[in-house]
Amino acid sequence: MSAIDDLPPLREVIATHGLSARKALGQNFLLDLNLTAKIARRAGDLTGSDVLEVGPGPGGLTRGLLAEGARRVLAVEKDARCMAPLSEIAAAYPGRLEVINADALALDVTAHLAPPIRVVANLPYNVGTELLTRWLDPGHWPPFWDSLTLMFQREVAQRIVAEPGSKAYGRLAILSQWRADPRIVMELPPEAFTPPPKVRSSVVHLTRRDTPRYPADGAVLSRVVAMAFNQRRKMLRAALKPLGPRLEACLESAGIKPTQRAEEVTLEQFCALARAVAAEGI
Ligand code: SAM
Repeated sequence: MSAIDDLPPLREVIATHGLSARKALGQNFLLDLNLTAKIARRAGDLTGSDVLEVGPGPGGLTRGLLAEGARRVLAVEKDARCMAPLSEIAAAYPGRLEVINADALALDVTAHLAPPIRVVANLPYNVGTELLTRWLDPGHWPPFWDSLTLMFQREVAQRIVAEPGSKAYGRLAILSQWRADPRIVMELPPEAFTPPPKVRSSVVHLTRRDTPRYPADGAVLSRVVAMAFNQRRKMLRAALKPLGPRLEACLESAGIKPTQRAEEVTLEQFCALARAVAAEGI
């Protein structure tokens, strides 16, 4: 393995700083710097961008991002034990790494970053899903980011890129694909991590779209999609009943049969339905 910088190997960093992995923080570390550099490259050309890294841990991916030429990296880590190893990386890359010891779910990062901004993270999957949902929130558009490159357990990654008609298709697919172009760009076996998790992981790269794939009001689309998939086994005429007496007319104008189920409805049809619902003032 060739070192990408002059810092000590990550196993040594972990031993020196007593960074035993904590399950409660979802700590499964990537210790192979060739692999972290590869993930950093999947985030696109970093040279002109600020990068937000959430959950840097001992800093393997952070080192990859800096070695791949990120203009600046803001690393937000909840575990205070990681501050010492991260400050060693900051010293090796003067002026390019800012580290904040905080819960990423509670921090407003925008004040610390300048566009264009790429987000890269290997996070516990529940935190990753929560952040992705917030970052895709149509109520806060345009977002602060240009691209997101995120590690998920494979099942969650498949839900992000899912097509209609599949079990994985749902709210996450629709929100991700409406305003962004998501792609799975890497698959990782459990052994890539220390300690290994139970399941396979995938890296998903999402680039933000300048215009949504189909026109719709984001808040209405979000409401209709949530209602439809909350009862995904029911026919839409039952699942969407709370929309009231004009529901069937709205479904018809969107080209959707009232007997269809949410998972059969395309993104284009959901957007047409959201437009019809908005036009009815429902
Ligand atoms: N990025 C490192 C790597 O690839 O080796 C660590 C990955 S580990 C799966 C997840 C990291 O996220 C841990 O360092 C953990 O402490 C951190 N973390 C967990 N919850 C967090 C939160 N809410 N905010 C910030 N960091 C968090």
